[in-house]
Amino acid sequence: MERRVYGPVPSRRLGLSLGVNNIPHKVCTYSCRYCQVGKSLKMQLQRQVFYEPEELVDEVKELLSKLQHKTDYPDYITVVPDGEPTLDINLGSLIEQLKLLQVPVAVITNASLINLPEVQHDLLKADFVSVKADTFTFETWKTLNIPHKQLDINQIADGIRDFRKKFTGKMVTETMLVRGINDSVSELKNTALYLESFGPDVAYVAIPTRPPAFNHVEPSDEATVNSAYHIFKEKIAHVELLTGYEGNAFASTGNFRDDLLSITAVHPMREDAVLGLMQKTGASEDLLAMLLKEKLVEKLPYGGHAYYLKKFRQMIDRLTGSG
Ligand code: SF4
Repeated sequence: MERRVYGPVPSRRLGLSLGVNNIPHKVCTYSCRYCQVGKSLKMQLQRQVFYEPEELVDEVKELLSKLQHKTDYPDYITVVPDGEPTLDINLGSLIEQLKLLQVPVAVITNASLINLPEVQHDLLKADFVSVKADTFTFETWKTLNIPHKQLDINQIADGIRDFRKKFTGKMVTETMLVRGINDSVSELKNTALYLESFGPDVAYVAIPTRPPAFNHVEPSDEATVNSAYHIFKEKIAHVELLTGYEGNAFASTGNFRDDLLSITAVHPMREDAVLGLMQKTGASEDLLAMLLKEKLVEKLPYGGHAYYLKKFRQMIDRLTGSG
């Protein structure tokens, strides 16, 4: 039987997260080119019963009962299947029952059904909702997300906005950047403009870091990710990068190398801020030169300033076995 409950695993967005898989493998409304769990086996729009929520909740309870230390306890129980979680007609009941365990509940959805009142009704019960926001251009959406034929991108965009007005929890977006598909300046500006129209709490910019479902899918490079960050930042207060490196940008170690790598994995850092960090930690310019030489960070121009960004290319090559 498929593993339906797993973790807790560390997640930059959610802290320690215990995952619940409420959908059989790869039943989805999309078949994204970059999907890290393979091509969709079944594409459908119809919501249905897959598993009894009580069974899933029992599995969560059992896993929680095995945790030895208080520090192992999850910060979130996250409904994050290898498919689309809102296809589960019992999602609302599942969230309600999970919340009785006194742990906040998160749902990671592609938002393709969020215009449906019954889906909104279910998602409103969660504490944290992450919605996919790769593109809002029809052709790009069709190419990148390969949606079910009856889906409509405008209805999805309206649905996300409408949900945002009602939802009192934390709502974030995730934009996965794929080279040559949704990462041109005009695409990024269009996505940023749309995000601005409803204002997520955090807009995450991600790149595929594991082998994708389709060949010839490449993550955007550092310079493009840097541009994306700044284009989004013009419209959204809080933007963060998810480039596969789980550094902790929020806890300073006082060590220049560690702090620089952690921070620049999440935010490009302007040169004056890097020099400030260098001064604060007593590091020398030689150390920065070495990090550049070792290709651990990259210096990139944007808008008349120089920015430092952690390089992710080599790490991805290692993960995908292509380097
Ligand atoms: S929505 Fe998620 S699970 Fe479905 S195909 Fe896309 S990446 Fe894979």
